[in-house]
Amino acid sequence: MKEKILSLGKFLKKNVYYVLLVACVIVVGTMITLTVTSPKDNDVVIEAPDTNQPNVNEPDVNVPDTNEPDTNEPDSPDQGVISNPVVFGSPVDGEVLGAFSVDELVYCSTLKQWQTHSGIDYACNAGDSVVSVFEGSVYKVEYNLLDGNVVTVDHGNGLMTKYGALDTVTVKEGDVLKKGDEIGKAGNSAMGEVNMGTHLHFETLLDGVSVNPIQYSSSNK
Ligand SMILES: [Zn+2]
Repeated sequence: MKEKILSLGKFLKKNVYYVLLVACVIVVGTMITLTVTSPKDNDVVIEAPDTNQPNVNEPDVNVPDTNEPDTNEPDSPDQGVISNPVVFGSPVDGEVLGAFSVDELVYCSTLKQWQTHSGIDYACNAGDSVVSVFEGSVYKVEYNLLDGNVVTVDHGNGLMTKYGALDTVTVKEGDVLKKGDEIGKAGNSAMGEVNMGTHLHFETLLDGVSVNPIQYSSSNK
């Protein structure tokens, strides 16, 4: 045995380069085999997440879907204004007696003074039906000496209309109105404009500020 081990040792010493070369070939061969087979394994591993990712993405796609309505909600009022502009009907059948004028003073024969006019006055006959110019709800029913019986209708988005000088009011606060629903009968209850005779003082407010109702009329679109 010793001789065999010694002779093997001599053989290894003599052929050390060949032994190392063979060892290197084996190592390199093994590495090549591993690198050739391992990419296949990696491909499989990569494909597996790929097939999983669509599953993971599907809920992700759904999450933006559920978010989209949320992001649309703030957009929808704007879109609503664009696609469904507020167009007023006529509050009463009658000629315009006094125009809207907040920039220029107009003479008020009743009060005998120059003043602004925050609405439009329509001439009408006593008892004529006064109707809501647009859908909304009755915000307030009130009386004061200068404006007489007044109904304020809330149309949403800060838009309101006021109907003054009414003889009688046929709605109550909170009533829901469609465009054209009666809110009262025309009269001459506003002492501030009593010289006009029977008429409707019609006012439009946006965020509490009087604006020209003409901008919401169909002829202005
Ligand atoms: Zn007026």
